[in-house]
Amino acid sequence: MRFEHVLVVGAGQMGAGIAQVIAASGRRVSLHDAAPGAVERGLDATRRSLEKLAEKGGADPNEVLGRIADVDDLVTADLLIEAVVEDSAVKEEIFRRADELLPPDSILASNTSSIPITSLAAVTGRPEQVIGMHFFNPVPVLKLVEVIRAVQTSDETAAAITGLAEDLGKVPAQASDFPGFVSNRILMPFINEAAYALLEGVAEAEAIDTIAKLGFAHPLGPLALADLIGLDTCVAIMEVLHQGLGDPKYAPCPLLRRYVQAGRLGRKSGRGFYEYPS
Ligand code: NAD
Repeated sequence: MRFEHVLVVGAGQMGAGIAQVIAASGRRVSLHDAAPGAVERGLDATRRSLEKLAEKGGADPNEVLGRIADVDDLVTADLLIEAVVEDSAVKEEIFRRADELLPPDSILASNTSSIPITSLAAVTGRPEQVIGMHFFNPVPVLKLVEVIRAVQTSDETAAAITGLAEDLGKVPAQASDFPGFVSNRILMPFINEAAYALLEGVAEAEAIDTIAKLGFAHPLGPLALADLIGLDTCVAIMEVLHQGLGDPKYAPCPLLRRYVQAGRLGRKSGRGFYEYPS
């Protein structure tokens, strides 16, 4: 099996989900997060998700969790999947450190939603082995993995990560390294426009989401989806789109910024456009 041991950095909603699907495929995972208690919280969410899946015939939760180790720093592995906060300086530092620590033939992948993979590759001494492996939320449920090649990424690296995505039961789709890639270049303007519709009083949040759900057959409306993604993450992605593409149409709606300033980050903080009693 390729990539027998995977280091996942960042144990938030994405990192925990990524650790879960990798461990469920029979691989060993080391999960690291800088915030105290974050890995524990991530693994609690993983246990709940595995228990639901086990009711439908999925793998034994204890067996899958037994393959995930909580590590208090970066460790050596065959593959890094970075899933920390959407901040290029934080990600670059992890790529620099992983490049020093991981064996020269290991691949360094990022789950970033928007940050250029080419600039993450450039801080390492192995740019041809750096790639974007963009999972979708919730990771154990959604099939898509957007595979983003940096300018420097080799064909071998792209083939290995595409093969891994398939081995995890996912469907890989390739995108070029432009801000927001394909998924968030389309999704974020949609969410932003919904936030403007709310700000301008065109409709209440529930009505905006009902229109998208029933009118466009979306499983979640744009405001509920923004709450699921995290409003802080949405604003960070829109800043990258705005700066990278230079078009004012990508600037985050002031309502989104205001909610983030107020700590209303969506589901993860208990309140965003909607309230989520714990
Ligand atoms: P999150 O806020 O749930 O988790 C981020 C985690 O990163 C936190 O636990 C934080 O403590 C940790 N972290 C911050 N700095 C760190 C460091 N230096 N070292 C180790 N850990 C560190 O965020 P998330 O929603 O899991 O998003 C993580 C990444 O995945 C982002 O790049 C985001 O753009 C991307 N992503 C998010 C979604 C989504 O729907 N939320 C979907 C696809 C991709």
